[in-house]
Amino acid sequence: MTITRFAPSPTGYIHVGNLRTALMNYLIARKAGGTFILRIDDTDPVRSDEKYVDGIKQDLEWLGLQWDKVERQSERLDRYADAAEKLRSIDRFYEAFETPTELDLKRKKQLNMGKPPVYDRAALNLSTEERDALRTERGDGVWRFKLDQERINWKDGILGDISIDAASVSDPVLIRGDGQFLYTIASVVDDTDMGVTNVVRGSDHVTNTATQIQIMKALGMTPPEFAHHSLLTGPQGEALSKRLGTLALRDLREQGIQPMALLSLMARLGSSDPMELRSEMSELIEGFEVSSFGTAPTKFDVADLFPLTANVLQEKPLADVADQIADLGVPADLAEIFWTVTRDNITTLKDLAAWWTLFSEGADPVIDDEDAEFVAQAMAMLPQAPFDDTTWKTWTGAVKEATGRKGKGLFMPLRKALTGQSHGPDMSATMTLLQVVKARA
Ligand code: GLU
Repeated sequence: MTITRFAPSPTGYIHVGNLRTALMNYLIARKAGGTFILRIDDTDPVRSDEKYVDGIKQDLEWLGLQWDKVERQSERLDRYADAAEKLRSIDRFYEAFETPTELDLKRKKQLNMGKPPVYDRAALNLSTEERDALRTERGDGVWRFKLDQERINWKDGILGDISIDAASVSDPVLIRGDGQFLYTIASVVDDTDMGVTNVVRGSDHVTNTATQIQIMKALGMTPPEFAHHSLLTGPQGEALSKRLGTLALRDLREQGIQPMALLSLMARLGSSDPMELRSEMSELIEGFEVSSFGTAPTKFDVADLFPLTANVLQEKPLADVADQIADLGVPADLAEIFWTVTRDNITTLKDLAAWWTLFSEGADPVIDDEDAEFVAQAMAMLPQAPFDDTTWKTWTGAVKEATGRKGKGLFMPLRKALTGQSHGPDMSATMTLLQVVKARA
């Protein structure tokens, strides 16, 4: 049974970077007919906010990434305490009292001497008396996991064979001075308790994974399979971390991006499989292969989502957008033709409003000087609204007869006079929607 999880911290909204993690874990679970867990990593009560928990769920629902169950770390603190107790009992856990400033100083010294800034384990040498004295003076210390200083190896689903020397890694702090459990131990306990079989996360977690594998082994647990995807960069390869705040899923939704445009791109971006625009999640699930993803940073350009969104919309039947069209005030009997006419001429659904305004209130005409007389003559020949799908042909036929103009010289000035634009939908269909003609003298 395949079990995956997406484990956001509710300290902000999810963005395109997190989405990649969520989507990969979702697709792996669905492809295997397994379980996808939404795990809320809320061990930090100060930074966690319920509004983000709700926001994360809304964003995933918008995309159709439905989870099978929700777990919350804040409800599982007893389990983490048990694990901590076990680590103490096997002598793999120790209390350390250095202040952040002291640690910083140690790191600087090490760097100055050309050494890696790894915690020196000074706390291991404290006598019981020294420890008690420090505790009285400074309060409870942090608890660090004592790594076995050997190489930690695993076969990564994306990165391949990984080998990390534990001696180059600081003993991770698992419990803060105020007693708060940190993500590293919480995640280890959860992944085991919940039977997680596959963990996909960003390559910024590789060192975490090394330490988590050791903690799991120390606790007698079996590590899941790990895969670390590369991180997203901007289109020029620039770091995206600072801009991720502006790439929140809710902002993309607000801008009119369609879920399948985003999902189709994200399910393949950075992999050797071609990106194809899909209209069904099942198609994304079918072709998904985590091992196809490369290790190089993945370039992402938010601008790519707009043409993809336009393509998604072109394929949509009226039923999918009927509510939005009705909300604009389009009468039900015109909805079908309105959608047929506009869907090839929009980037996002937000563009529909402008089209409906144009049809219902009339467009500000664009009339070139040399066409002024011709347009005036043509307008005088235009019958009264409502028009139908024969109006354009009959009218332009008569105008052609009367003026001798033909082809582009005939049609373009009339299109510009009626719609204010030199391009746009088919004019026969446009006429059926046009309620007001401002160009009429
Ligand atoms: N809460 C962690 C994060 O958002 C989860 C990492 C993981 O997948 O284990 O970075």
